[in-house]
Amino acid sequence: MAESVIKERTLTDLTNEEIGRYSRHLLLAEVGIEGQKRLKASRVLIVGTGGLGAPLALYLAAAGVGKLGIVDFDFVEESNLQRQVIHGTRDVGRPKVASAKDRIKSINPYCDVVIYNTMLSSENALDILKDYDVVADGTDNYQTRYLVNDACVLLGIPNVYGSIFQFEGQASVFYAKEGPCYRCLYPEPPPPGLVPSCAEGGVVGVLPGIVGTIQANEVIKLIVGGGDSLTGRLLLFDSWKMKFRELKLDKDPQCPICGKEPTIHELIDYEQFCGLKKSTTEEPVETITATELKQRLDENEPIQIIDTREPHERAIVKFPEAKAIPLGQMARRIDEFDPAIDAVFICKIGQRSIFAIRALREAGYTGRLLNLKDGINAWAREVDTSLPVY
Ligand SMILES: [Zn+2]
Repeated sequence: MAESVIKERTLTDLTNEEIGRYSRHLLLAEVGIEGQKRLKASRVLIVGTGGLGAPLALYLAAAGVGKLGIVDFDFVEESNLQRQVIHGTRDVGRPKVASAKDRIKSINPYCDVVIYNTMLSSENALDILKDYDVVADGTDNYQTRYLVNDACVLLGIPNVYGSIFQFEGQASVFYAKEGPCYRCLYPEPPPPGLVPSCAEGGVVGVLPGIVGTIQANEVIKLIVGGGDSLTGRLLLFDSWKMKFRELKLDKDPQCPICGKEPTIHELIDYEQFCGLKKSTTEEPVETITATELKQRLDENEPIQIIDTREPHERAIVKFPEAKAIPLGQMARRIDEFDPAIDAVFICKIGQRSIFAIRALREAGYTGRLLNLKDGINAWAREVDTSLPVY
């Protein structure tokens, strides 16, 4: 049975108001007065106030965590509201940390909320994380996930991990003192662009609610002590099939940060590690803005427009006069292109269409290939505002 991560901390008594508020915890022998005092003395950092960060912050605040730090640099957007239940419709346009703080305070005024309206980076991560007992990772990208992992290992703090995509989620506790870390499970990030983000691939709204509350549950157990944590176990959840599975995770003795002979002793450049810095060998992709494309169409220039999106995305919004060719068929259908005419490739946000251009280049296509910058969403914002942004 796991010991509390703050077992050495000096605890202060609960007030009568706190006893009233947390009575359903106090009635549990596993939590009790001692456990609740530990929650009150605890400091938890939540990285990201999106889909996972929302239930994490809501439930940890309600549970009586004394100090909650929240890190996010983003602003609330309409498309967040389908799952990021800490933000309301009136919060659209506000910094996520400000909106989250208001909501946390309305749930539990006893919770001390510290906001970091910034992007977590190699420069600030150790400084921010060192003041916390537990870190809950609610990020949606690989560079921050490796950064959070490494900072937690270096500081000796448990990292309560969750991730989501479409209908599937994962959760674990990476606590290098007692078990594996994220690098033991995934030594290398996937090649950039290979794994689509939720912004491109979608996510069912309740999924982060389920995975984020699992993370909150793990955080509470680490603080209170006791129970069986997800340390050394990877929980896999499929919400479409409604199935939970579990994989046993071992610590990798060769792990570069938590293994026997670590080679990483400080934070590194995570953008480079995740392959996000532009490589000098790769030929850059030429872009065209939505406004430029509109001008060329207005001037009746011949242009081939290729929509690389999936059929269910084209059902959301159609691009005028575009030919639909799914990404996977691009190279095979090279003969349908005329190399004498410029070809413009579109997708939702201008990421996947880059792969279409690369695929055609690799297949030996010689004509000019242009990528619509920021995708059909840019067209809807800049050119035809009657179209929806999704
Ligand atoms: Zn490791």
